[in-house]
Amino acid sequence: MRKVAFYTLGCKLNFSETSTIGRQFEEKGYKKVEFSDTPDIYIINTCSVTDNADKKCQKIVREAKKIAPNSYVAIIGCYAQLKPKEISELEGVDAVLGAAEKFRLLELLDGFVKDDAPKVLATEIKETKEFVSGYSMNDRTRTFLKVQDGCNYKCSFCTIPLARGKSRSATIADIIKNAEEIAATDTKEVVLTGVNIGDFGIIDGRRQERLIDLLKELDKVEGIERFRISSIEPNLLDEEIIEFCGQSDKFVPHFHIPLQSGSDKMLELMRRRYRTDLYKSRITEIKSQMPDACIGVDVIIGFPGETEEDFLDTYNFLNELDVAYLHVFTYSERPNTDAVHMDGVVPKAERAKRSKMLRILSDKKKRAFYESQIGTQRTVLFEHDIEEGKMFGFTENYVRVEAKYDPALVNELKDIELVKVNDQNIVEIKEPEIVYEKH
Ligand code: SF4
Repeated sequence: MRKVAFYTLGCKLNFSETSTIGRQFEEKGYKKVEFSDTPDIYIINTCSVTDNADKKCQKIVREAKKIAPNSYVAIIGCYAQLKPKEISELEGVDAVLGAAEKFRLLELLDGFVKDDAPKVLATEIKETKEFVSGYSMNDRTRTFLKVQDGCNYKCSFCTIPLARGKSRSATIADIIKNAEEIAATDTKEVVLTGVNIGDFGIIDGRRQERLIDLLKELDKVEGIERFRISSIEPNLLDEEIIEFCGQSDKFVPHFHIPLQSGSDKMLELMRRRYRTDLYKSRITEIKSQMPDACIGVDVIIGFPGETEEDFLDTYNFLNELDVAYLHVFTYSERPNTDAVHMDGVVPKAERAKRSKMLRILSDKKKRAFYESQIGTQRTVLFEHDIEEGKMFGFTENYVRVEAKYDPALVNELKDIELVKVNDQNIVEIKEPEIVYEKH
């Protein structure tokens, strides 16, 4: 039996796709093994958003070759779509497959026989129209279910549309079928993933279905206790969706909403499709329907043209906003984007300073949100990982908690009371005897 190992860089969507490809291999009789387990084949799924994607890719190939010098190495994913030729020139690479080809690995690389030169199979991204559905299945605690791919927006800093193509989705019927398969595995939580989930519903180049209808159908799937939307653009998170989540027992009160800048001038330069007033109104709406909702925010600092004043607008906007944490991205130049030609480049040291300020703000916000939850009763989904005799989990509203390790609690939903925020910004819960009643 030939052995195959996978390595994934980047987002949840990549993880979901690696997992789908892994199942294709297993169906064909390959054995999925760990990276270090001397596999015959390595599949490395890359990301274009990662800084130094080329160096990271090279490093992983080198490590693979050290473990299994005769292995076959195939590179797939966003970076493979953007720079197929460069990747094929990295030492040790046997094949590079683009966005359209990655799901046909087994057929296209027939038997994984090494050639004199690396194979490069990457059609132009505009030819990539097919949607391949799938979900990750690593442990049973949480699964990433892919519902959408690609993006029709043209944010001036982003290479994702070039790497993943036009917006397209699975049908609701297909997604429900996948969700039912997941439900049969005793998975407790499903995270909906996509590039631009709010744009769900484009099938065969035509808008045919709506996200809200997908959510309503998923809500009826028996055997899945929780659904989480990984991220959604503010202009697409409409009142109907917010209201639905507010009433649903399964869609959790947790939203991750990219803002990118708290300055309208910067939002325009970034070519985002909303301004700060819309963003703020979405937060107000969520909080009025779900006062305990956890809201996370993506923000980019150091974008060209961002003056000290613009940055302070962002800082102050976020400081006043009722959100729980920030994901701070430091702008870095990407080839083939409009932003790379813009004036007003922010010096690297200034970018680092701004990024640090926002990271400190994020820590403060998270602590304040956690503190606001102390004394409340929540439900925690306990995970597999153990650290110094402790286990961890998240509440429905995304508070990270810790408890004494108990194997019986892994992948279990338990009602608990939040007691105290500790020095690591993790919440301690009430003593196990009181806590661990059956949900
Ligand atoms: S919405 Fe903008 S940032 Fe997000 S994937 Fe599309 S182009 Fe990129």
